[in-house]
Amino acid sequence: MNSRRTTGGETGRPGAQDCFNISQPAFGTVAQIAPGLLWTRLPLPMKVGHTNVYLLADADGWAIIDTGYGDARSIDTWRRLLDGPLMGQRITRVIVTHAHIDHIGAAGWLCRTLGAPLHMSQVEYLTCQIDLLDPGRYGRDEYQAFLRSHGVGSEAAVSIAGLLAAYGDGLTGLPETFVSLNAGDILELGDRRLKILLGPGHSPAQLMLHCPEEGWLISADQILGGIQPLLVLPPTEPDGNPYELFLRSMDELAGDVDPDALVLPGHYLPFFGLADRIALQREHHHSRCEIMVEACCEQPRSAAELTQSLFPGPLNHRQLNHAIGEVIPYANWLVTQRRMHWLDHNADGVRRLSCARR
Ligand SMILES: [Zn+2]
Repeated sequence: MNSRRTTGGETGRPGAQDCFNISQPAFGTVAQIAPGLLWTRLPLPMKVGHTNVYLLADADGWAIIDTGYGDARSIDTWRRLLDGPLMGQRITRVIVTHAHIDHIGAAGWLCRTLGAPLHMSQVEYLTCQIDLLDPGRYGRDEYQAFLRSHGVGSEAAVSIAGLLAAYGDGLTGLPETFVSLNAGDILELGDRRLKILLGPGHSPAQLMLHCPEEGWLISADQILGGIQPLLVLPPTEPDGNPYELFLRSMDELAGDVDPDALVLPGHYLPFFGLADRIALQREHHHSRCEIMVEACCEQPRSAAELTQSLFPGPLNHRQLNHAIGEVIPYANWLVTQRRMHWLDHNADGVRRLSCARR
């Protein structure tokens, strides 16, 4: 693998101090990470700016891992790839890590255009099918009522629901059939045998691909370098506990994957040092929970008020929605840990978190 400088240890295995030394590919170009493992990027209209896409050599072509957003700019970038560095190459299958639009958006277009089958976890496939059947569901009154019950003002709730109602614009459909990938499956791609891992927390059953022989992990958004993956509370599960599920996924990754593995994430640069990154993520989330406990031990607070404890300063409505989506998973986890409890039935209809020590 040419993506690392080895530390000269006896085993030649990469160490945590190794650097990933391949420049990120410009849109419409690919970079080789290892023989039979390519990296490209698709542009995104969101702040993160791009989604990483990987290509793995298959028996008589290439498998695509993730598809990017489904807008015109992303499709145009795919056309440049297919007419450029991938010209004449057969695409054998499209593998999608999870149902968020920045990863699954172009899947329908790609599968139709290339005649390639879709592979993904059943939960993520069905989640996206629901989004396609009812793309405006997050914009309806129920979600606005949920936001108001957590202290978001009526005007902001209407605005957030309006933003979410446009969610389906980034999708290009899905094939009517797919190949289901399950946790523990071994996927044979060319000469490689890849282990399938599913990790909840950011998305209900996010798929990761592990190659133990070569020491790398396609981590999707479960492990990112430099930023923390968002914990996402499914709107269908307002009392869900994605943070607990995320922590269990970290335990599983720490047990299954080489701590010095090369991590190939869904955004930003690949990096070495899985164990260090897991430790940082745990510390980050733990410190956020402690900030919330401290704030609620002063006085009971709504989720909207707690966004100011975690994200001081003005938030636009999109940022407020993301912040609420981060506060509530922590809150639900702290409740299950018996460190906090919800105060319901307040006169203003707003739920507030209270420190159990009060
Ligand atoms: Zn993403």
